Amino acid sequence: MADSPVPARMLTVDSPAREEPIGEVPVLGADEVKAAVERARAAQKAWAARSVRDRAAVLKRVRARLIERMDEVAACVMRENGKARTEAVMHEVGPLALQITWLAKRAPKLLEARAPRGLAPMPRGTKIHHRPRGVVGIISPWNFPFLIPFSATVEALLAGNAVVIKPSEHTPLVAELGKRIFNEGGVPSELIQVVTGDAGTGAALLEAGIDMVSFTGSVNGGRKVAARCGELLVPCTLELGGKAPLLILPDADLERASSAVVFGGFANSGQVCVGVERVYVHERQYEDVVARLVEKTRALRQGDPEHEEVDVGAMVLPPQLDHVHVLVEDARAKGARILTGGARVERKGRFYPPTILADVTHEMRVAKEEIFGPLVPVMRYSDVEEAVRLCNDSHLGLNAYVFGNDRRQAHAVAERIDAGQVVVNDVFLNYVMPELPFGGVKASGIGRAHGEEGLLSMCHPHVVVDDRKAFAPGSDPWWFPYADSKTAKIVSWLKKTVGLLDVTSR
Ligand code: NAD
Repeated sequence: MADSPVPARMLTVDSPAREEPIGEVPVLGADEVKAAVERARAAQKAWAARSVRDRAAVLKRVRARLIERMDEVAACVMRENGKARTEAVMHEVGPLALQITWLAKRAPKLLEARAPRGLAPMPRGTKIHHRPRGVVGIISPWNFPFLIPFSATVEALLAGNAVVIKPSEHTPLVAELGKRIFNEGGVPSELIQVVTGDAGTGAALLEAGIDMVSFTGSVNGGRKVAARCGELLVPCTLELGGKAPLLILPDADLERASSAVVFGGFANSGQVCVGVERVYVHERQYEDVVARLVEKTRALRQGDPEHEEVDVGAMVLPPQLDHVHVLVEDARAKGARILTGGARVERKGRFYPPTILADVTHEMRVAKEEIFGPLVPVMRYSDVEEAVRLCNDSHLGLNAYVFGNDRRQAHAVAERIDAGQVVVNDVFLNYVMPELPFGGVKASGIGRAHGEEGLLSMCHPHVVVDDRKAFAPGSDPWWFPYADSKTAKIVSWLKKTVGLLDVTSR
């Protein structure tokens, strides 16, 4: 941003735990965003010309810097996002280091040109190359302000792209720090651009001539981005909301399952796209499970992660706290029991206490809408068929969880749940397994991040067909001049190839 003109507006960033200003960033307008894209485009040419192995070596050096500066990243995330220290380290820095480790090793092979085996006598010299898209715009949310934009950055850079990151307006500070770490590791300074600002800056990025968009955020934001990308014919991947069900089968280990609910529902104050947003328990075990949830939830320590050792930190946005409370009140009015929490904590900072709601039904908003806060609704089912139906009764389909001791049955149930990913007897795990593609079905998104699929989504296949078996001029059966004798040859080849040579027409 060195040569940007002075921006018209500044954005104040505050600490959710203390509700005090901690920094400010400029709101960049269309011209500044366009200039950033142009700088990225200029840097991309030389980067794409380097071998994949070379690019991977640079990213391994980035990983070393990242590990060295882990505490600094964690401190910055804690300050602007309010999450607990362990989460800032283990959910933001750790998975990125793992992703670099897995992807940097495999990228040279995955991005190698392929020679597909075709049908004889089609040309044999065909190659499928993986070309970088060019400049990738990365628009990201506030709940994982470091991991999400830089995980997409790793994929994009390995594939030979430049990136322009538009961090969330609520947590923009760690994006600048992340860029510095990548640059210190050897990524050319202009290859990663950070354009700070609000939704308007994100919208300007779409117009700035980028070649792809990697968007992570709300369903509403995703719809708008996808609509504009459709008009501009810019490819986009969308990682949107979640409403993860956690189904406790009757034979599950209730101690493990209830601990998983508490961790999966309250980590990052519930502001996790794969967070446990609804729990289904068999009616015979319902009160037992609810009692365990209450006990374990009451044991959680909530507070300012910068000054206390806590399990649950603060919530990022005031409207998000209001939203959680509205869902609690709606459920209470319709007959739910509030067993822990249920009212805003009276202290400085944006804290909503971890809340367990019992006797919830699908007539309540909390069972249908994304909560994105520390609130876990617990529902009853009487048979597994009903439980599967309830799990699938959602417009979202990102993660889902099934707990059961009989692994065959648990897997059979998992296969019937409409979600991008289903984890058996654990929560969140898929997100930190870099080999797995990650994404949603239904309104949870389009496309996949992570794994081989995420890397390849940052490229477009570039096909070169080499017809080395060229016919003599005039004799190629596909070309002019047409002749019935040539057509007969093609038909004969076609029948042979599809295995119907001896079958007369019916
Ligand atoms: P949001 O949609 O409000 O904003 C996300 C980003 O998009 C921000 O940087 C914002 O400035 C930008 N933006 C908003 N409108 C835009 C527009 N019209 N054009 C261009 N950019 C625009 O989402 P949020 O509140 O920051 O994030 C919370 C949501 O993100 C939740 O729904 C959560 O489930 C989802 N999320 C999904 C995943 C996933 O991987 N599926 C991960 C994390 C969060």
